[in-house]
Amino acid sequence: MFGDLFEEDFSFISNNHCGKGKKSKPRDSEPPAPRDFTNLSGIKNQGGTCYLNSLLQTLLFTPEFREALFSLGPEELGTLDDSSKPDAKVRIIPLQLQRLFAQLLLLDQQAASTTDLTESFGWNSHEEMRQHDVQELNRILFSALETSLVGTSGHDLINRLYHGIVVNQIVCKECKNVSERQEDFLDLTVAVKGVAGLEEALWNMYVEEEYFENENLYRCGACDKLVEASKSAKLRKLPPFLTISLLRFNFDFEKCERYKETSCYTFPIQINLRPFCEQTEMDDSEYMYELFSVIIHKGGCYGGHYHVYIRDVDELGNWQLQEEDRLIEDKPLRETENAEEIENPLAVLKGIFSEEESKQIPVDQLGQRLLEKKGVSWNKKYRKQYGALRKYLQNHPQIFHFSPDENKVGLKEKQKLLFMSDSQGQDLQSRPQKNDVQWKAEKKPTRLRDSSAGHHWFDLNDSKVQPIKEKDIEKQFQGKESAYMLFYRKSQLKRPPEARGNPRYQIPEHLLNEMNAANTELQKKRVECDSANNGIDLHLHLSSCYKFHNGALHPSLTWKESVVDLTIDRRKTLGDLRQSVFQMLESWEGDMILSIAKPLPAGLHLYQILDGDELTLDGVGLADGTDIFVWNGKEVGGTKVMTGPDHEPVVVNVLRLAEYNEGGKGQHFTESQHVFSCSTKLGDLHRALAPSGGIILKNSSGPDKEAKNWEVFREEDMKETVKSVGLTDGCSVLILDSHDQSFVNVSSGNLTAFTYDISWLQVKNFCRTEDEEKPVKITATIETVMSDIKRKAIRELQLEEELANDSCLRPVSRNGKLLSPVPEDYTVKEAELKMGSLLGLCHGKAPTSTQLFLYFIVGSDQNASPEMEIVVEETASVKECLNLMLEKSGLSGDNWHLRRIDWCYEAGEALSQENATLKELNVCRGDTLVITEGKLPPKGFLKIPIWWFKSSSHRKHGENAEDKVNGLTYKVEALQVSSAGDSPEYIHTDMDLCYAGSIEIAGEASLEDLKMQYVLIWHLLICHVQWF
Ligand SMILES: [Zn+2]
Repeated sequence: MFGDLFEEDFSFISNNHCGKGKKSKPRDSEPPAPRDFTNLSGIKNQGGTCYLNSLLQTLLFTPEFREALFSLGPEELGTLDDSSKPDAKVRIIPLQLQRLFAQLLLLDQQAASTTDLTESFGWNSHEEMRQHDVQELNRILFSALETSLVGTSGHDLINRLYHGIVVNQIVCKECKNVSERQEDFLDLTVAVKGVAGLEEALWNMYVEEEYFENENLYRCGACDKLVEASKSAKLRKLPPFLTISLLRFNFDFEKCERYKETSCYTFPIQINLRPFCEQTEMDDSEYMYELFSVIIHKGGCYGGHYHVYIRDVDELGNWQLQEEDRLIEDKPLRETENAEEIENPLAVLKGIFSEEESKQIPVDQLGQRLLEKKGVSWNKKYRKQYGALRKYLQNHPQIFHFSPDENKVGLKEKQKLLFMSDSQGQDLQSRPQKNDVQWKAEKKPTRLRDSSAGHHWFDLNDSKVQPIKEKDIEKQFQGKESAYMLFYRKSQLKRPPEARGNPRYQIPEHLLNEMNAANTELQKKRVECDSANNGIDLHLHLSSCYKFHNGALHPSLTWKESVVDLTIDRRKTLGDLRQSVFQMLESWEGDMILSIAKPLPAGLHLYQILDGDELTLDGVGLADGTDIFVWNGKEVGGTKVMTGPDHEPVVVNVLRLAEYNEGGKGQHFTESQHVFSCSTKLGDLHRALAPSGGIILKNSSGPDKEAKNWEVFREEDMKETVKSVGLTDGCSVLILDSHDQSFVNVSSGNLTAFTYDISWLQVKNFCRTEDEEKPVKITATIETVMSDIKRKAIRELQLEEELANDSCLRPVSRNGKLLSPVPEDYTVKEAELKMGSLLGLCHGKAPTSTQLFLYFIVGSDQNASPEMEIVVEETASVKECLNLMLEKSGLSGDNWHLRRIDWCYEAGEALSQENATLKELNVCRGDTLVITEGKLPPKGFLKIPIWWFKSSSHRKHGENAEDKVNGLTYKVEALQVSSAGDSPEYIHTDMDLCYAGSIEIAGEASLEDLKMQYVLIWHLLICHVQWF
């Protein structure tokens, strides 16, 4: 009927759920958590089963119920083992409930599962579980139990404990005939709306009479007519356990929606039901009931959560902590309670009336009585807040009853009765009640509760169980989180002393055995799990298998052979560990020191000594996989070993500039590893790596050695240690020898050159030629200036410094020839020098960048004339150059001119413009010129060679011409001139070509002029021939 009204709101358990989900994998193999300090078991929430859990816990903590259930043996119920057998009669629901109860009582786990039980109900999905409301479930569960217990001695179990009868009576006013109808109940449903509490609700139901009168008459069967009649209901039979459901959920017909009644609704811890019963002549104790369970609903009407406050009647749980709490809080709590009572004028007035024998008190005497009995004046204490006393009484007509003349006032009948029941309960049990008035405090010392009386309350909230104070129940009178079902037990029901604190009480033998076995299994699993969780593997390194070299310990055998693994519980002590090691190493002699060791890149290094035999391994931080070195604490293989973080060995990559092409293409560094203690002073490191004044640079961009951020360690850094300057394993340092340092701008601390480009040039001394000297390598980049290279070379070659002023560097060609000297202000790049190439250090000044170094020979016969060298300004004219060369070669006269050398090393084009500068004529450094005999034609004249053809019949012109040309020393241009001046047919005549001499002729001369000259020469030739 409630549909999804009571569907659970899961938000509050989502954390819990997530937590479980996350750990579900490793947990699968782990045993469930044991009970916490309360020693009570919760019940797992299987998704929307909190209402079921609350009800099951209530039934469990109804000892009479669980004992009745336990009393049903296998002979009546069968056994769960037989449940799969088709012909076996197995009553699964009571069996599962028995087992669950046994688990809740005995199994050492934080929370039990109800899966088996709900399956026995036929609920297999969450959906089916969520279909039910706790009140509804109560009935379903009881009905299911009853059904499954038919034919057993437990067939009346539910009835015996929960069955009550209500009788409805209608009394005819005329014939006094009583018409009666009985109603059975297992629980009572009471109104919440418009009612202040349980007593008032019961009063309305079982004390107030309804009248049939006026329009609304009753048809009496006996009188056979419509008559006036009174209708009433009474409790005829009270069950030992009274279950009360509060109608907190209502339907608002105006708004057409459901709502939860959250108003205050009180209920007593003890209640006297006599006023509501049909028979009232029995002893009071027959009517007294005590609250022992409150099922609480938290949330709205469309969802929420249930938990339950339960009184642990048999004191099965540990309420210890709360007990201590209570002793501290007891006194102030009572004072507060008293003070609260005094603050409430209604309670105070009710108290006064109940003491009055006359029942009615004159209104004007009430103030006096108040002062006498309670020591408070209405006008002083309450008037300001509640107004005049008479007015106050009139404002509470449901409580106070005025006499017709309004001079006297008394309590209304109902209030008196309610009050009486409270006081009687109090007298009976010598216990004051929460909603009782405490004015008797002085007369009768208030004892809240004797803690030994078994009033230990717990809040059972699914898996969680917490002790609470009885007073906490009052928090559930009203609000979104408030009482929903109340469970009272008859006060007469006494528990046997042997049941107290004994969870095994009345549990059948087979279930005790089952739980014992399950606990043993759990215990075993926990121990296994525990040692699995606590076992650690330690790697023992034995000093006898180690040698100390290169700053760290290294196994003399393989790593595997030098290590022994030891598995030990981390909760054991260092003494235990030492003992284990001794046992493993039977032959050990002398002191045994265990030191924490760590494998570092340099090798094994030792840290603190494991000292203090009483300390646990866990306590000193030994984790799984820790390396431990077993030694005498002093030396290994005769070498003293420094331990601790201050002596950690650091592996430093040491880079040096590689020689040309050393280590393959593109490798500019050679790399080697060196180990230093991290406490090594940088000065010592410097001396070790760069003994002769070199410098050390640190790569500040980390282990990536391609990065260029090299930083120079300065003089002041030398006092620092390897550690303090941040050199760690894998860090690189670059060592530059003294001659490399021009690449470094030390003042700024940074390497300015591109280290990629650093390379070498080789320089060989050519100043001394007596004996063969080895070339020296001079570091350079393409930007290095030649003068720097020269200066360095002189230093490296250990020559006199003065030589710098009269020497130059000259590339040496592959066949050993000294090439043109390089200008000193040229860079390597400008000089077009290849890295690694050989330079000769020679006497003589190098040309400046405006000077030309030239070779020259005299005549075109190289073998006849040695090649000579000269340095001339590039602005010098051809003539000046010629004169310098003539001077140098010891020639004189003006019958000389200069020619370039041609591609086959013969005199070529003449430098005919004698006044042009060498630069203008594109004469370059290193060119070779030829001093040629003969005058150049004057300016403006061409010197034209004249050829003549001897007629030679039967010869083809082509062949002849080729032969001749090959044999000639003159260039093609001469031929062109001649051929240009002749007709083509002329060339084709069969004649031998003969050189006739040259004709100097002005460039402006006409061809006719040339012919004239030619003819003249031709005549001379004829004569010459004739003369010849
Ligand atoms: Zn009648």
